[in-house]
Amino acid sequence: MKKSKNFIEHIIDQDLRNGFDKKKLRFRFPPEPNGYLHIGHVKAIVLNFELAKEYSAKINLRFDDTNPEKEEQKYIDAIKKDIKWLNYKWDEELYASDYFDILHSWAKDLITSQKAYVDSQNSDEIASQKGTPTEPGSNSPYRERSVDENLLIFDKMTSGEYDSGQHVLRAKIDMSSPNMLMRDPVIYRVIKKSHPRTKDKWVVYPMYDWTHGESDYIEQISHSLCTLEFKPHRELYDWFLDQVVDQNKIRPKQREFARLNLSHTITSKRKLLYLVENNFVDGWDDPRMPTISGLRRRGYSPDALKKFVQKAGVAKRENIIEMSLLEFCAREDLNKKCNRLMVVQNPIKITLTNYSLEEEKLDLINNPENVNAGSRKVSFSKHLYIEKDDFMENPPKKFFRLSLGNEVRLKGAYIIKANNVIKNDKDEVVEVECTYDPKSKSGSGSPESQRKVKGTLHWISQNHSVNVEIREYERLFNDASPGDYDMSEFKNIINTESVKYLNGYGEKILQKSLPGEPFQFQRKGYYVSDLSSTKDKLIFNKTVGLRDNYKKKPV
Ligand code: ATP
Ligand code: MG
Repeated sequence: MKKSKNFIEHIIDQDLRNGFDKKKLRFRFPPEPNGYLHIGHVKAIVLNFELAKEYSAKINLRFDDTNPEKEEQKYIDAIKKDIKWLNYKWDEELYASDYFDILHSWAKDLITSQKAYVDSQNSDEIASQKGTPTEPGSNSPYRERSVDENLLIFDKMTSGEYDSGQHVLRAKIDMSSPNMLMRDPVIYRVIKKSHPRTKDKWVVYPMYDWTHGESDYIEQISHSLCTLEFKPHRELYDWFLDQVVDQNKIRPKQREFARLNLSHTITSKRKLLYLVENNFVDGWDDPRMPTISGLRRRGYSPDALKKFVQKAGVAKRENIIEMSLLEFCAREDLNKKCNRLMVVQNPIKITLTNYSLEEEKLDLINNPENVNAGSRKVSFSKHLYIEKDDFMENPPKKFFRLSLGNEVRLKGAYIIKANNVIKNDKDEVVEVECTYDPKSKSGSGSPESQRKVKGTLHWISQNHSVNVEIREYERLFNDASPGDYDMSEFKNIINTESVKYLNGYGEKILQKSLPGEPFQFQRKGYYVSDLSSTKDKLIFNKTVGLRDNYKKKPV
């Protein structure tokens, strides 16, 4: 079934019906390299790259690198890696900094045509003249500077004669515009900092608004899609284009869609950076982070993330998507892909008193959802582990797991019955003596193998297991809407106990797992082998549980 089109596709279709040449459609994804990409960016990436596919159009990856105070090469590298991991290919890799020369010369043209001036006030003075949404601003005393004087000072700004904050270049638009952004916005400022790409060539840097639309124009982007907060910027975007556009060329069109907001987490790079810098998490790719690299390390696949943003849809109005939808998409994806394995995390010993073989290799199905996944051999023996809480000495009425005198099935193995407990000097049960029914072997076809018992437990043979470290994650914030808190309150809602390190005993086959490989640990959830996992120290991150824990435990 063809999916229904979103409103951006309707806009493009309308443009095509009005005669826009399909071959001239072109898109871009424009990250600022001041942090790692997060789940919100996945939405913008999927939107732009899927449009490019749908319309057979080109798409650029353009780094909006206009602020050397915050931008770094490591972020550029991480962004490229993440987009590639999502399986998208861009046509050209471009940088706003590639256009610094032309942007600078266009700025001089603005001065010459009296559409820009150097303001020599400091930022507080400039802010005090901005007015309010209901009151007009007032003109800067430098607004009527002569063209020559403006050019002279701008040249000196450019050659490094002034410190940051002494002068700025402003567009001369309208200090009484109802749109505050049109009140003579700053377009150049002095920043004496080396740039990741242009190094020390420049000490004046163009502002985002001035750069963005002009870069779209230089690249001949037909549809420049951005998030709703840029809607008020559209007027300015168009004003800047008016100053440079050649009628024979494509004039980019800015259109806005609602950003992806996700419950229980944040999508602000500034706050994500705060978590990293203050060691609330272990780097940008910590599995608790809503970054692409964090989600990858947590065990999310590109398919799951794409499915999620597609389900969330492209909306015109702000909304909040529930984290349970993201987890649902992970489960749906992993359910089909993952082999099931057994890991016992909190063990209690089981001894089968009537079992005499040294070791028996049982055949267990890898994934009942996928016939092609085949089966594997799992060692069974007299000495086993099951989860401690799967046994109760004095069980309540509806306890269907193991208790004295009762039977359960061991997954893919035999039916066992508990007969006796062995306790330590603190009166805690440390071992359960059981007998097994030799005729009840799973899959043997015998009448006993068909016998119904109430519970099925996962298990591990004590002498045929490997140790695994398991990292389980709680919510990173103690509030369902952490994005609502500003920086000063933000740290109070961070859950400082959001990771648990646990040990377990797993099937030997886990020794062959590769970092990034996902599994279902039976009855426990979905897990992924961590990047740092080695044969000698196996580490798994819990991706999600088998059931929704957001609906059950709302905050
Ligand atoms: P932040 O506000 O956290 O710094 P940003 O929007 O400034 O993020 P950019 O690197 O400039 O981050 O974003 C690149 C592109 O991704 C932009 O087109 C932006 O509109 C889009 N984008 C950013 N956040 C989201 C989001 N939550 N949902 C959808 N698109 C987003
Ligand atoms: Mg931005």
